[in-house]
Amino acid sequence: MSGLEIMDYNTQQVQRQAQKAEKEEKEVTEEGGEPQPQEDVIVITHQMQLELPKGADKSNVKVIENLISRRIDIRIPGADENYIYDYMVLGESGDMESLDYSSEGGSGTVALTMDKAVEADYSFDEEYLYLDFFSPRELHDRIVVVDAGHGGGAPGAVAGTHYEKNITLGIVQYLKAYFDEADDASIGVYYTRLDDSNPSLSERVGLANDLQADLFLSVHINSLKGNTGVEGVEVMYNELAPDTAFDTQDFAQICLDEEVAALGAKKRSIINGNKIYIIRHSAAPVALVEVGFMNNPNELARLVDPGYQQKAAKGLYQALLKSLDRLDES
Ligand SMILES: [Zn+2]
Repeated sequence: MSGLEIMDYNTQQVQRQAQKAEKEEKEVTEEGGEPQPQEDVIVITHQMQLELPKGADKSNVKVIENLISRRIDIRIPGADENYIYDYMVLGESGDMESLDYSSEGGSGTVALTMDKAVEADYSFDEEYLYLDFFSPRELHDRIVVVDAGHGGGAPGAVAGTHYEKNITLGIVQYLKAYFDEADDASIGVYYTRLDDSNPSLSERVGLANDLQADLFLSVHINSLKGNTGVEGVEVMYNELAPDTAFDTQDFAQICLDEEVAALGAKKRSIINGNKIYIIRHSAAPVALVEVGFMNNPNELARLVDPGYQQKAAKGLYQALLKSLDRLDES
């Protein structure tokens, strides 16, 4: 469905509503009875509003946003296959590319595909769910994108029963907890994944570029076969990126310093990583932090420890805050 069709569709909805009101008016006239109160005129004050079926309200309607796939799914309990025809679904967002509806097992899903990464702000009243869409740039002064390396069918480095994808996700979840706790609306933090999914490399760096991120941080765990003595923190940056007041090299250096300080780990160095797809394609200053080496049994034992993962997250959190300060100064 194209944007135009959605407008047509909504026009139909409005027309249908108008016809319904007209018909009711006519019936009243024909019956010659008391004039009945007319249906309220619907004034659209939000970019989208959805009428809720009985039993659906803010306690059970779910709005699931996925910025990477530019999708917003609205799960509505009690919405059957006719919901989309029987209820008012009105919208006039220029950001919307398509609207699809499906129902299964007594609950319906309105799936919105947006033409760019937008955040939905939503609220409820007795009858309606209201949505407004904002580009993250409208909501926050600074934008950070955090990427937990690998995921899903791509475990990354493997050591015995331990997968890199789980360690990176553990660290990123702690990092999110720090940002959530600080609750600073001036900084918008977006994550390429917060579960065991595996966005493509172009989706990961694409999110950072879409959002015009100020910083793009990717978290990985190193592995070097045949050298069990190797250890410590290493950070990749893009040597080919333009040299600016605060660039990828500065960001990588701060990540290295802060991570080493937080973990008490061995300080290795920042290294050129422009052969790495997400580094090469990042418009924002990028740092890919290799927190430690999984092939070193001693470091592996630390890396899988939640306490150590939390410390790693604290180091990255400090690094991001410090880098944002530096950006403000530059
Ligand atoms: Zn990796």
